[in-house]
This record gives sequence, C-alpha cells and structure tokens, in this order.
Amino acid sequence: MAIPATIAIATRNPHKLRELERICADWPVTWVTVRTHDPAAFPAVAETEATYLGNARLKAHATARALGLPALADDSGIEVDALGGGPGPRSARFAGEGASDEANLRALLQAVRGVPSAGRTARYRCVALLAFPDGGERWAEGVCEGVLRRAPVGSGGFGYDPIFEPAGWERTMAELAPEEKDRISHRGRAFRALRELLV
Ligand code: IMP
Repeated sequence: MAIPATIAIATRNPHKLRELERICADWPVTWVTVRTHDPAAFPAVAETEATYLGNARLKAHATARALGLPALADDSGIEVDALGGGPGPRSARFAGEGASDEANLRALLQAVRGVPSAGRTARYRCVALLAFPDGGERWAEGVCEGVLRRAPVGSGGFGYDPIFEPAGWERTMAELAPEEKDRISHRGRAFRALRELLV
C-alpha cells in the first residue's frame, strides 16, 4: 500500500505526540495534529476495548472518519510478569480513571513492592495503527523488554519510564536521550514496522 500524502495523528497526549513526531520525522507525509489544527476537530475517544489493537482501532478510525483523512493511532502499556501481564492496556488508568502518570507509577511500585529482583521482569508493548476513511487499516506491534526498578530515576520520557530499565541498559528509560529511547522503544519499533508495510 502506498504511503498517504497526509496523515492525522490521533492523540491528545503531548508526550506521545512528541515521540511520534520524532520517530516518524522521515516519513514523506504532511502531518495533521492537535498542534497544527483545531484540537476540537479531533474526537475524544473512550478506550473501552480490552486489547491494544481494539483501542488503537477505536482511536484511529474515529479520527479518520471525523477528519476524512488517514489517521495514525498508538495504544500502548506496560506488562508486568508478577502482575500476570497487567496493567497492560489499562496502564493509563492503573491508579483509577483520570489518574496522573505520577499516581500510576506510585501505584505500580506499591503493587510490586514485595517482588524480588528476579521476578521484576516487564515489557512495554505498542500497537501502531493507520486507519483509512473507507474503513481499511494497516497495523504493527513493537515490544521493549526490561525490569522494574524499586524507585524512580531520571526525568526524561513519561509515564512509567523512571522505573523501567530496558534490557541491556543500566539506566532507566527516563535517563535515556530521546534518540536512545526511540531506537529501542516499543513505540519506535511499532512505527518503524508499520512504515515497512507502506511502500
Ligand atoms: P494509552 O496508549 O493512551 O492507553 O496509554 C498508555 C499508557 O501506558 C500511558 O499512559 C503510560 O502510562 C504507559 N506508557 C505507554 N508508553 C509508555 C512509554 O513510552 N513510557 C512510559 N509509559 C508508557
């Protein structure tokens, strides 16, 4: 499938938007975002599905229909083995509906408080989905393996980054430079894989 000349980015999350703009900087595309266009034109979509793919579909297709443009969405989360893979698609709401990143991070640290080092494995997962106004779509997934620290370190990134140490790094995701995070992150991997489906 040919890459569309214009694509809307279906997110109001400023952290995600900044990462997507960096990761997709070399796509030959004119971007339509809440920064370049009227944010009111972008539908607010409740993430009511149980899977990343389901929620990415809801967000991307609603935006594609509302704007009459191909729309790109990201649904992502952190999966903690000691929590049976949770919170997963509920990561943004782990400490309750509308919870802040800080409250979610504190709640996760608390939930794994007694878990020994060897059991603190986790991964970030991201589904990147491009929806077309006629209902078509292309999607890809990316994963970043790591472990959970016992206390937050670093000020970069967002969400759970200060307590997530990617495998092979002795720094948290929040201590990585933006280009380092993009190179190994679930989001970087998902969007680069999606790009390969658009020739
Ligand atoms: P959603 O994709 O809008 O459902 O939100 C994903 C949630 O997962 C975010 O609010 C964060 O809590 C977490 N998350 C996803 N990607 C990242 C990341 O790159 N760093 C830190 N937290 C993330």
